Amino acid sequence: MRLLLIGAPGSGKGTQATTIARHFGIAHISSGELLRGHIADHTPTGQAAEKYVARGDLVPDGVVMDILRKPVEAASRNGGYVLDGFPRTLAQAEAAYLVAKDLDASVQVAVYLQVPHDQLIERMLRRAQSGGRGDDTESVMRHRIEEFEKQIPPLLEYYDRREVLLRIDGSRPIDEVSATVIGELERVRQTLH
Ligand code: AMP
Repeated sequence: MRLLLIGAPGSGKGTQATTIARHFGIAHISSGELLRGHIADHTPTGQAAEKYVARGDLVPDGVVMDILRKPVEAASRNGGYVLDGFPRTLAQAEAAYLVAKDLDASVQVAVYLQVPHDQLIERMLRRAQSGGRGDDTESVMRHRIEEFEKQIPPLLEYYDRREVLLRIDGSRPIDEVSATVIGELERVRQTLH
């Protein structure tokens, strides 16, 4: 099972990706986590990415594609993956498709966790107040939500056209969202074989 999760900052995407990965026994690959790991380890990739992540800007496509290639290939040979945080733009989706299609590693299902703008802002303010990560300050988070909302329409259109796009109401409590996502994915899985 090869799927990706699209959701704004504060949509619960990381939490749901963890649950999905556990349920289906597949790898959870988070572009943000991988980038944070590189930044913490001061690798050349980390140094290239650091200022973008700190500002809440998107890291250049080449950098992101580079760090994802190996884990995505490995997971594809080993039961599949749930990608969390990638792609963020139509250009990334198109580039990933070209790389993955010859490797039999391309995405089969795209899940969009839909959370209304006001609720994202509310959750963001709570997260900013409780400390959170280095890029969880209020102004950076507002910027990240704006970035996401700018990029999302063409991305959804792309997956609507090309793949199975599942739209899930992400505004409900975590457990209810998990149950719905897993139920829907189980249903879709029957159609993949
Ligand atoms: P996340 O953990 O998904 O919220 O991502 C944290 C930050 O990492 C983002 O604000 C971006 O700066 C960077 N990032 C993560 N994934 C991507 C991506 N696919 N393309 C560009 N930048 C990304």
